[in-house]
Amino acid sequence: MAEIIDGKKIATEIKDELKIEIEGLKRSGITPGLATILVGENPASQVYVRNKTSACQNIGIYSEQHTLSSKIKEGELLELINELNKKPNIDGILVQLPLPSGIEEKKVLSAISPDKDVDGFHYHNVGRFFCEKSYSEMKREELFLPCTPFGIMEMLLRSQVKIEGSEAVVLGRSNIVGKPIAMLLLSANATVTICHSKTSNLKGVTSRADILVAAIGIPCFVKKDMVKQGAVVIDVGINRMNEGIVGDVDFAPVNEVCRAITPVPGGVGPMTITMLLVNTTTSAKRRLKMKNEKLSTIFNF
Ligand code: NDP
Repeated sequence: MAEIIDGKKIATEIKDELKIEIEGLKRSGITPGLATILVGENPASQVYVRNKTSACQNIGIYSEQHTLSSKIKEGELLELINELNKKPNIDGILVQLPLPSGIEEKKVLSAISPDKDVDGFHYHNVGRFFCEKSYSEMKREELFLPCTPFGIMEMLLRSQVKIEGSEAVVLGRSNIVGKPIAMLLLSANATVTICHSKTSNLKGVTSRADILVAAIGIPCFVKKDMVKQGAVVIDVGINRMNEGIVGDVDFAPVNEVCRAITPVPGGVGPMTITMLLVNTTTSAKRRLKMKNEKLSTIFNF
């Protein structure tokens, strides 16, 4: 049986570290603040936003939720984002995706100030992390990395999975998971292959993987015979079925061949929310730094 990589436990460790940082920020007069925007009544989105809000409350981050009708005009949404961009007590702005039809996602995401883009989806922030050489530099620079891929990297590293020199295969090429996790694995010196719906001989490619990341959105798609003996399998998928939520990996049979695996639920999901808290705290730390720099200019110390 494989080792279960416990996302909930790792997320708790990170949140405990964050609580200490947030207490320090508060002592310096800064409370990290996150604004979430939910447009429409998508039930899954409502759950995600509720979970994000309560995760903030649990560790001392101020949060405010803006719930808008699905009939709202794109211009009104852009206006709200603009207001939040200017609000000094808001360090992060999150627009829950997907947006209703008629609202252009790219336009909305690029309206968020790159300095408050805690989801890491703004072109500016995507460009920054694509240009950075190594994962450790990205961490040192405290870039806003997209939350799900960032969470996967932290899970791997905190579980002592060797990334450097490994062969990594990513199933899926979306902008929010597939492409960025491939880039992050590359920046940590893995040799990376990205697969998609047009990949031929998929099984031949996935069975080479030392690290296999599945992010395609098809329940139990990854079968035992697609996985190399001793691989580490990261299941990003969230598929709502009658029996509950299942991942993209056929968990029980794959568990027999791999060395380590993330469960669904309790794997990547809790890490994604936690990395949002990390990015929001990072943004608040930048605010404190700017405040201190301003004071030092005024008082010339
Ligand atoms: P998308 O639908 O945007 O992308 C799916 C990708 O899978 C596409 O690149 C697609 O290829 C590829 N794909 C589809 N079918 C196949 C196939 N038969 N063989 C190979 N590749 C295929 O999904 P997301 O990246 O947004 O999400 C993926 C999953 O991860 C979903 O279940 C989602 O709910 C979940 N998710 C979970 C998160 C978490 O926090 N745990 C966060 C975000 C997402 P092509 O490009 O050719 O169409």
